[in-house]
Amino acid sequence: MRKVLIIVLLFAVTGIQVNAQIKELSEKRPSKSPCTTLVGDDMLPGMADTTTGRSVADNYKTWENGSVLLVKFMNNVGSPAIRERITRYAKEWEKFANITLKFVPDNTPTTNIRIRLGSRRDKLGHNSAVGVDNDQRAQTRQTMNLDTSDFLDHDFFITELKTGGPFYKFLQAKGKDLTKYTYPQFYDDIIDYPSPLPRFKEKVAKGTTMHEFGHALGLLHEQSYPGAIKWNKDTVYKYYERHDWDKAKTDFNVLEVSEQFFTNGTAYDPKSIMHYSIPSWQTLDGYSVDENYEMSDGDKRIIAAMYPKDKKVSDLAVPKVIVSNFVKLEVKKDDVKKALIITPYFTVKTGAKLANAYYVARLTTEDGQYYIATSSLKYNWGGNSGTYLKMNLLPKTSKTYNKLLRKDLQLVFPYKEIPELAGKNFRVEFTVYQNNMSTGKLDRFVTYSLSSPLSLVR
Ligand SMILES: [Zn+2]
Repeated sequence: MRKVLIIVLLFAVTGIQVNAQIKELSEKRPSKSPCTTLVGDDMLPGMADTTTGRSVADNYKTWENGSVLLVKFMNNVGSPAIRERITRYAKEWEKFANITLKFVPDNTPTTNIRIRLGSRRDKLGHNSAVGVDNDQRAQTRQTMNLDTSDFLDHDFFITELKTGGPFYKFLQAKGKDLTKYTYPQFYDDIIDYPSPLPRFKEKVAKGTTMHEFGHALGLLHEQSYPGAIKWNKDTVYKYYERHDWDKAKTDFNVLEVSEQFFTNGTAYDPKSIMHYSIPSWQTLDGYSVDENYEMSDGDKRIIAAMYPKDKKVSDLAVPKVIVSNFVKLEVKKDDVKKALIITPYFTVKTGAKLANAYYVARLTTEDGQYYIATSSLKYNWGGNSGTYLKMNLLPKTSKTYNKLLRKDLQLVFPYKEIPELAGKNFRVEFTVYQNNMSTGKLDRFVTYSLSSPLSLVR
């Protein structure tokens, strides 16, 4: 398992001042912010396996077919015109998917998808959580960020600024000091500008909104399709270095092809709205992909297969184990039972299929870096000191463990089965794995937690 990559897009914003009286208002901006999926940035620290399932679609992360997802804009940001567009473009998916995107007021306390309308100033780019990962985020946080600076026709507004047009008057009315007006301020002000004639880069606004909502519904980047792109890695690293992406970040967002694929029987689709644009110098064979602004036929087919309108459960549905609300991992020493009592507090949900999971408790060194080897035959997980429960989880269930006084999920680890640690402290690590019932392999890491250090004196 690898460490979580926290992916933040960083773009150099020039500090040029826009003075409404000055004619030179040209600025070299990146054509469009790349997109990241922010996988794992809100998960438990350290261990989220961000590579698992990264492919054309992550079938483990799709919503239940027929779901009504509540969507809201955050913080009262954005003119009616910009909100109307994003809403309309997002809902393009509804034409093909059996999913309802229900846009609700900003003050709705509980939602599935929360859109933050940002600008080039905040450097957050475009990104979205993938599928049911949206529900892992705190309600106070966005699940999707859109950089609206890519959606608006800057030249139009700058002309209005220069000629003292309606946008100039709008800023005056807001009491802005237009002699010290800067680009960052400009980027923010146009998000809310209630122009009756809003000037949008419709193609980019539509394509980007559909791409991010594709992630929100469980789709991943099409360029990750196995063997699709013969990358010229050195030039790709150099290119993304300019956007302050290090090698690991570039590997994760651009180059990485997971071993676990859900290509769902579809062929590689260079016209997919989920494909990055790729210039020919980034590939070894001169292959290139243009920016896509519309859903491809392949996109429509895959989303319709994932969320069919004519049946209850998709043929592509896989067993799902979804953990949320991991409140705490409690480990107590019970000197009467002479055992560690391990009590995790969390909620587990399943999809439309029966699923198997293992709840595993393992001992680690005090720094949490290494498992502790054991000679015990029974309290043994792959040669390391541990204990586990195998769970059969029924379809469409939600279960919160240890909610009540009477504990309903505990693992008991007898002192005598714990290896001699020569007085050294240790910790208990708790993980949930999903068992792949078709291969019998434990191939999906779901969640992770680590206790505080413990000691055992014998
Ligand atoms: Zn993306």
